[in-house]
Amino acid sequence: MPHATLVQLLVVQERDARRRQLEQQIITVPLDRATVEKAIATEKAAIEAARTEVKGLETKKKLLETEIGSAETVLSKYRTQQMAVKKNDEYHALGNQIETLVKQVGGFEEQELVIMYNIDEAKARFVKAEATLKANITGHEKKLSVLAERLVNLQTELVEVKAAVVVAREPATPYALKVYDRVAARQWPVVVPLRGGKCGGCHLKVSSEAESASRSADPAQLGICDQCSRVLYWDFA
Ligand SMILES: [Zn+2]
Repeated sequence: MPHATLVQLLVVQERDARRRQLEQQIITVPLDRATVEKAIATEKAAIEAARTEVKGLETKKKLLETEIGSAETVLSKYRTQQMAVKKNDEYHALGNQIETLVKQVGGFEEQELVIMYNIDEAKARFVKAEATLKANITGHEKKLSVLAERLVNLQTELVEVKAAVVVAREPATPYALKVYDRVAARQWPVVVPLRGGKCGGCHLKVSSEAESASRSADPAQLGICDQCSRVLYWDFA
């Protein structure tokens, strides 16, 4: 049975362990939250990208239709003019211009078909992206509310555990607490068993002085590992 000081430190350590664990868990909550929020943002961005694409393509289509419309107006003007001309060369010149315009309109119409196909594709992407968000949003929101609740619970427990640590430290001597805090700032756990002459923290062999101090029944004495400075308690197991 370890002496009173060791028992006190073991209680402090047990409560500190829970405190440390809670603090770690609290740190991960915003990270988990960010992951969910990123998923929502990605899904919304996919919808927005498809919407913008549809809009852009529709604008292009309108411009092309305007171009086709004006080319056709010019075409019908040329055709009327062609019927009225008397001279052969003028007739041919207009014929060439008409031919060029007909080709141009054909080209515009081909472009329009491609754009219409692309609009259908983009609309399908938009519908799919919207469906994805709609299907996932309930899950996302549930995760966020679970995380919010989890944070509150962790923080509540942390307040309790911190108070319990304070209570556990009360009976310990300033010397014992100083040793404990110095080690705790660098490594964990602080108070470890000594088994087979080896420190339970760093697993290295300790000196006979450290070993006999760890076996001492005197509460003023602490066995300190020569290698890692952890507090040792004699363990029969
Ligand atoms: Zn050690």
